[in-house]
Amino acid sequence: MITQVLSPSEGAICEAAKLIFEGELVGFPTETVYGLGANALDAKAVQKIFDAKGRPGDNPLIVHISHIQHLAPLVRERPSAAAKALIDAYWPGPMTLIFPKSTLVPAAVTAGLDTVAVRMPSHPIARRLIEVSALPIAAPSANRSGRPSPTTAKHVLEDMSGRIPLILDGGPCQVGLESTVIDVTGCVPRVLRPGGITPEMIARVAGNVEVDGSVMRPLKEGETPRSPGMKYRHYAPKGNLTIVQGSPDAVAREICRLYDEAKSPALILALQPNLCRYGGRKTISLGMNAEGMAHNLFDALRKADEMGAEVIFSEGLDADGLGLAVMNRLGRAAAFHIVHAS
Ligand code: AMP
Ligand code: MG
Repeated sequence: MITQVLSPSEGAICEAAKLIFEGELVGFPTETVYGLGANALDAKAVQKIFDAKGRPGDNPLIVHISHIQHLAPLVRERPSAAAKALIDAYWPGPMTLIFPKSTLVPAAVTAGLDTVAVRMPSHPIARRLIEVSALPIAAPSANRSGRPSPTTAKHVLEDMSGRIPLILDGGPCQVGLESTVIDVTGCVPRVLRPGGITPEMIARVAGNVEVDGSVMRPLKEGETPRSPGMKYRHYAPKGNLTIVQGSPDAVAREICRLYDEAKSPALILALQPNLCRYGGRKTISLGMNAEGMAHNLFDALRKADEMGAEVIFSEGLDADGLGLAVMNRLGRAAAFHIVHAS
């Protein structure tokens, strides 16, 4: 199969919608990362997503809708007051909500769970694709399983070339990290995966929020997380990644020491204002702040592979606000190997 990459004209979106309708897969941009979409109501089409990604069958998918009236057929109960408040505030946007599922949603989408994850993206191309398809679209990130999520069409092509017929190229994704996943089946909204909608933003409109314990630590032996995707080592570069935390001075001193001691090709991931601290050593900039780091992180991890880095040292962030999502992804990429510099 030859994979076409098209700029997202109305004609190209119609072609993509036709492929979705026929049970095929399409790579498309959203404001978080690129998605790999299929008709969410067609179990056979959904199975193609798992095959193309090499995704374990027990990791459920997110269903994307373009209008609020398309939520009711997918869920078994009316959204709670907290869920309604979150929908009003943050849809369309980088927020996924978990509801009890209706019988319309095939088990293949939810990996046999009794709940379904739903998101209304804000990206105009994603919205138009869903609208023209006139179907809910199941779409995980468009990477091969275990690789960093794609934030450009080039990343999607690297992972999906020959596996899918079409990628819509909408340029780089704005947020750069996957959506916040929130379980709204209980009384208090619970963050299962942090993202662009922060716990602070959730508490502000829903009155309360809990963050699942699995977000900032490795899972215990045999532990089943409430968000099945959390048990896999996502976002992994090929090189061995270590995060260094502490004051900027102490972090730079420790990273320089570790880099100079490394016996194989090494690389440093650092915020732009700190790059000058690393002299002539090999670096990649992560941008100006937490937002920049969210936007640049997955591209930096892919570049580290391309550069053949075998040991990688990254500056960390405080795990609050958007920093929680960044540190969740970076922590998993590093298998939570974190050094505290003093
Ligand atoms: P991806 O689309 O690749 O970003 O992965 C989707 C994420 O949503 C994974 O981490 C899944 O575990 C999570 N997810 C999807 N459906 C559910 C569900 N019904 N309950 C809990 N987590 C879910
Ligand atoms: Mg993913």
